[in-house]
Amino acid sequence: MSTDYKVVIIGAGVIGLAVSRALAEKGESSVLIVDKEDGFGHATSSRNSEVIHSGLYYADGSVKASYCARANRKLYDFCEKENVWYNKCGKLVIAQKGQEPVLQELFQKGIRNGVDEMRIISKKEIYSLEPNIEAELALFIPSTGIISAHELMSAFNRISGSTGHDSLFMTSVGDAHKNNLNEYSLFLVEHGSVESNVTANWVVNAAGLHSETIAAMVMGRKAPSLKFSKGEYFKLSSKWRNEFSHLVYPLPDIENDSLGIHLSFDQSGSSKLGPSAAWLELLNEDYSVTESLADTFFGEAKRYIPDLNITDLSPDYSGIRPKYFPEQVKQSDYYIRHEEGAGLEGWINLVGIDSPGLTAAISIGEDVAEWIVS
Ligand SMILES: Cc1cc2nc3c(=O)[nH]c(=O)nc-3n(C[C@H](O)[C@H](O)[C@H](O)COP(=O)(O)OP(=O)(O)OC[C@H]3O[C@@H](n4cnc5c(N)ncnc54)[C@H](O)[C@@H]3O)c2cc1C
Repeated sequence: MSTDYKVVIIGAGVIGLAVSRALAEKGESSVLIVDKEDGFGHATSSRNSEVIHSGLYYADGSVKASYCARANRKLYDFCEKENVWYNKCGKLVIAQKGQEPVLQELFQKGIRNGVDEMRIISKKEIYSLEPNIEAELALFIPSTGIISAHELMSAFNRISGSTGHDSLFMTSVGDAHKNNLNEYSLFLVEHGSVESNVTANWVVNAAGLHSETIAAMVMGRKAPSLKFSKGEYFKLSSKWRNEFSHLVYPLPDIENDSLGIHLSFDQSGSSKLGPSAAWLELLNEDYSVTESLADTFFGEAKRYIPDLNITDLSPDYSGIRPKYFPEQVKQSDYYIRHEEGAGLEGWINLVGIDSPGLTAAISIGEDVAEWIVS
């Protein structure tokens, strides 16, 4: 018996859309993308820093390191070709007095990870690049940039739509079963009440924060498990608009597996600080911003922006990182797997896709499409 679709993708965030786009580029038209929200990119993919990362931070041999370095160049090329807004502005990772050895270590890691054209710059050069920033030493990474996440997802969506892919929004995947060797059945709930089933040969689990739950529908307790870390942002007042031309990061916060409260800006030149990192006991998609965190943000940023005033900060937005920790590994990584080994031919899990997922999406999508249409 034939299935309704060859491929069903669960989740229309940047990862699901990247898979859909890559399948379209390979001429695969029998694809359905399902999302519980009323449009694409309403979850983590529109709640991040919109940075095109270089691949600096990730553990040697990690899946993140290999995807990020490879995707960085590919993403800039895609943006050029498809008219997606970006700014290859470069970034400074700064060190204060006493932190220089840690910066040197990071530099060595960047070399091992294949980051292009990095160099250490002096206090004087930091000042000439960013007069509002004070630091002893910095790592200058020209290949880091910013992107419009929405335009990227729109471009992926446009390409997949032009090949005839279908989308179902306001539709939640409530359960999944393997029917036989080559077929899965997904139980869908539209608009909270209308129930239906759809069958497919391939299922791509790109459900972001809910990817563990989806994986557990077919894998039970063997599903990869997630931890959640909330990141909040504060914006800077309009007096700081267009005052910076590079992203500015402190040294990473190893304890919390985060990059530290950094300074970034968007397409309009508006500057923001964040994200913070706080572990959540349970997944709670409460995206409110804690006003009282202003003091912490101010304290962190004042170290490198001496002219900052606390009144320049106001609560902005937040996002939640789905984190997967491979056994006995301290840094989180991606769980990207075709689950043939678990007897689930045709089931692909994309779990724990936190930062640099926006950057890596294009390459993850292409690899997954290659597994499906080789
Ligand atoms: C604070 C923060 C800052 C970040 N900064 C950066 C950055 O600067 N650069 C970078 O490269 N990356 C960054 N990232 C990471 C990046 O945002 C993510 O890796 C990426 O957005 C993940 O995309 P996704 O498609 O996997 O998830 P999502 O965007 O969350 O998409 C998953 C989709 O699945 C849907 N879904 C879930 N459950 C179901 C269900 N049962 N049925 C149907 N649909 C379902 C959801 O509605 C959602 O739309 C950041 C992340 C955070 C949290």
